[in-house]
Amino acid sequence: MSWDFETEPEFQKQLDWIAEFVRAEVEPLDYVLESPYEVRSDKRNKLVRPLQAEVKKRKLWACHLEPELGGQGYGQVKLALMNEILGRSRFAPTVFGCQAPDSGNAEILAKYGTPEQKKRYLQPLLDNEIVSCFSMTEPQGGADPKVFATRAELKGDDWVVNGEKWFSSNARWASFMITMAVTDPDAPPYRKLSAFIVPADAPGVNIVRNVGVGDEPEGAHAYMRYQDVRIPKDHLLGQRGDGFVVAQTRLGGGRIHHAMRTIGQVKKAFDLMCERSLSRTTQGSVLADKQMVQEKIADSWIDIEQFRLLVLRTAWKIDRYKDYLKVRKDIAAVKAQMPKVFHDVVTRALQIHGSLGVTPEMPFVEQVLESFVMGLADGPTEVHKITVARQVLRDYKPTTGLFPTGHIPALREAAIRKFAGRIELEV
Ligand SMILES: Cc1cc2nc3c(=O)[nH]c(=O)nc-3n(C[C@H](O)[C@H](O)[C@H](O)COP(=O)(O)OP(=O)(O)OC[C@H]3O[C@@H](n4cnc5c(N)ncnc54)[C@H](O)[C@@H]3O)c2cc1C
Repeated sequence: MSWDFETEPEFQKQLDWIAEFVRAEVEPLDYVLESPYEVRSDKRNKLVRPLQAEVKKRKLWACHLEPELGGQGYGQVKLALMNEILGRSRFAPTVFGCQAPDSGNAEILAKYGTPEQKKRYLQPLLDNEIVSCFSMTEPQGGADPKVFATRAELKGDDWVVNGEKWFSSNARWASFMITMAVTDPDAPPYRKLSAFIVPADAPGVNIVRNVGVGDEPEGAHAYMRYQDVRIPKDHLLGQRGDGFVVAQTRLGGGRIHHAMRTIGQVKKAFDLMCERSLSRTTQGSVLADKQMVQEKIADSWIDIEQFRLLVLRTAWKIDRYKDYLKVRKDIAAVKAQMPKVFHDVVTRALQIHGSLGVTPEMPFVEQVLESFVMGLADGPTEVHKITVARQVLRDYKPTTGLFPTGHIPALREAAIRKFAGRIELEV
């Protein structure tokens, strides 16, 4: 049996290098550049490209991928340990070639793309020469894919796509979208949708507006309108009606990778909270001496460690079973717990910083908002809790009798019968 919580010393050296590199070289980018996805910006490329080259040289590029796709085949546990560090910086995932949604979209193209599509889209995506978008949610609903109405109809040798999409992140910088559309309206609910590659420059691909989060006047999340967009027949990914299967290729990995990076973000807030507690004096002693502050620190440490262990064990299960479906319950649990841990720790860090905590001079307000984003993107928390409960309940059966199997009078009676003759029971 093996049950080990230690990191291999050789890999620990890599992690130490990553931590220092991210702190010294990557985190500063967050304060001078706009978006990691602006691949056509000279300013961004001037600063980002040399760092990406350094990461490639250290063989740490695209670690979520297998070697045949240019990754290191490290598996999810090592990736989790790396992502915990990368989560500290907005730019770090891009510098290390593992940013969402490109990472998941690359997995889809690797699995379902034709050799020509791999050459045209996958390779430049893996090299971060281009970025991509996943276009599924619609204005009338995201959590229930059964309400999606965007249509793709086969006309001659082309698919013709019509409909609206909502919150298609990074569409404004993307070279292509992976778009979900209804091809078979009369099929059973989970066989109606198919997945397509839609080149961003195809006529009829329109961005109505770019929606922001919080007080961003213009953000990265496109409200899109597809108007008679013609795409070649072979841009269908997988078989007709396979949309949900194709989407799962990216969502399993995508969700756990978000969780790994969230640990990094939460730890950053926690570090600041501890530093402030030891630095700020009020009523004659440092904050760290106040019991209610100590409680916040203890609760936060426990929250982070519990969550981290759940994420790492889920990563370990993915490596072991190599099948996201077998680890569905664990991934859903991680996804459901992530916004709560994020929110709880970050709000405590904000509170301990007093008035400074609510200003944009500290990262907490943005992080609180981000914790809500984590409870929505890739599906709302409620839906993931439903998955956990359903999966858990599969291992249980209803009772046949009137009383539960844990009903004490019946258990006691059975125990008396079992030991009858061996012990005297006093009534
Ligand atoms: C920052 C950000 C980036 C995103 N990026 C993308 C992207 O790139 N591509 C993309 O396609 N989508 C993207 N999304 C959309 C995201 O997937 C949806 O927001 C999510 O699926 C929820 O859909 P909705 O917003 O339409 O909410 P609705 O479906 O309207 O749900 C609203 C609320 O109802 C409740 N609810 C829903 N279902 C249930 C249920 N079964 N039981 C109990 N309560 C329920 C939940 O509280 C939920 O938040 C992004 C979202 C955000 C916030």
